Amino acid sequence: MNQSYDVVIVGTGAAGLYCALNLPERLAVCVITKQGAEDSDSFLAQGGMCMLRGEGDYADYFEDTMRAGHYENNQKTVDLMIRSSNYIARDLVRLGVNFTGKPGGGFDYTREGAHSRPRILFHEDATGQEITGTLLRRAQERDNITIAEHTTMLDIASEGNVCGGVVLSDEDGEIRLLEAGDVVLACGGVGGLYQNSTNFPHITGDALAIALRHGIAVEHLDYVQIHPTTLFSRTPGRRFLISESVRGEGAVLRDQNGDRFTDELQPRDLLSRAVKEKMALEGSEFVWEDLRPIGKQKILEHFPNIYEHCLGEGFDVLREPIPVVPAQHYLMGGIRADLAGRTSMDRLYACGETSCNGVHGRNRLASNSLLESLVFAQRAADDIAFRHDAPVHPACQVDLGRYADQEGLFSSYRETILHEIERSDTK
Ligand SMILES: Cc1cc2nc3c(=O)[nH]c(=O)nc-3n(C[C@H](O)[C@H](O)[C@H](O)COP(=O)(O)OP(=O)(O)OC[C@H]3O[C@@H](n4cnc5c(N)ncnc54)[C@H](O)[C@@H]3O)c2cc1C
Repeated sequence: MNQSYDVVIVGTGAAGLYCALNLPERLAVCVITKQGAEDSDSFLAQGGMCMLRGEGDYADYFEDTMRAGHYENNQKTVDLMIRSSNYIARDLVRLGVNFTGKPGGGFDYTREGAHSRPRILFHEDATGQEITGTLLRRAQERDNITIAEHTTMLDIASEGNVCGGVVLSDEDGEIRLLEAGDVVLACGGVGGLYQNSTNFPHITGDALAIALRHGIAVEHLDYVQIHPTTLFSRTPGRRFLISESVRGEGAVLRDQNGDRFTDELQPRDLLSRAVKEKMALEGSEFVWEDLRPIGKQKILEHFPNIYEHCLGEGFDVLREPIPVVPAQHYLMGGIRADLAGRTSMDRLYACGETSCNGVHGRNRLASNSLLESLVFAQRAADDIAFRHDAPVHPACQVDLGRYADQEGLFSSYRETILHEIERSDTK
């Protein structure tokens, strides 16, 4: 790692990698990540990525996104995301992503909750791994992109309201200032702050705490999505998601008597509420999800990883229902970002789950987040590449000694975010 780059990107998820790949090769880019390059929530995505299926689908796709978001969405960003989706899908295929196709040719599409029709591209039940793994391989091939693993952003460095780099702890534990003409925060959500979450535990909203401390505008930190169906477990750690496309393909929820009790395809927040209410009424720790209506062949073809994982936990989904429970899944709020991913601090961008451009409103529609991450990561890259002003490297004075107690620093970040989530809770 050098001491200075044109662009430093924090995060090797779909947003960070796609931003890096969309920057011109003349720019020296460093992408840092807290853990291994594959340890991001983007790799965990199961269900898929939404795509507009022709102009005839536009009104329905727009309405589905708005309805799931309780009409609090930013209509401009929703429009932009939907209209960019065909280009993004084509670009991913160009980069080498293998979406599942129909036997006769063309993409196959699956459906998830709150979608009025199938419009989700997928690769078995491991779409995130297929997309993000491909992006990672392409980024590793590029001479202008350095990927620094086990390198943690501790803070941003700024002078006035201009960002000039990041303070980090590198893989040897050395605390350094990495100077940058532009910084892109693509640090994912906040799941690591919760006891029950589908997210990686190291994804703890660090960028949000840093933004709050620097007075950078954030929005709706209380808009936290709870996924209705994760595999029930008494073992601590990450919760295993049972993808919504399982319900989209026919799985049903049952109470302790084996009876269906709700519409399985309603938006996530409403379904999570229905599941929690049923659990409270029954005094149970979970409800049952029955995959058998999907049929053996489709389960094995479309959901091989879910099938194998459940088998490893002692449940054969071909023969019996599995216990499921809601868990924290996604953050709709985040660092306020405009259509180009610009934040309220100059030369500081945010994209992916860390950012909030209003596209999801109060509740995200299933499979809109990979797409949103990619669309706005590309727009941030375009803004950096094409804007008319010359890069500045403000000389940032940083007392690196302040960051020696990293445990204390991250515990205070955690408190800052949890306090803000509670303070801004309007529900
Ligand atoms: C189990 C699961 C299933 C999902 N299924 C789907 C789906 O089917 N479709 C869909 O659209 N979405 C899905 N999502 C949501 C989607 O995967 C994420 O919202 C999206 O991928 C976020 O991408 P990102 O690049 O913003 O962040 P992430 O992929 O979470 O990446 C964050 C990166 O930031 C790094 N980082 C964080 N803090 C620091 C720091 N301080 N210093 C250095 N690095 C840092 C992390 O190490 C990581 O590399 C799913 C999510 C989960 C958890």
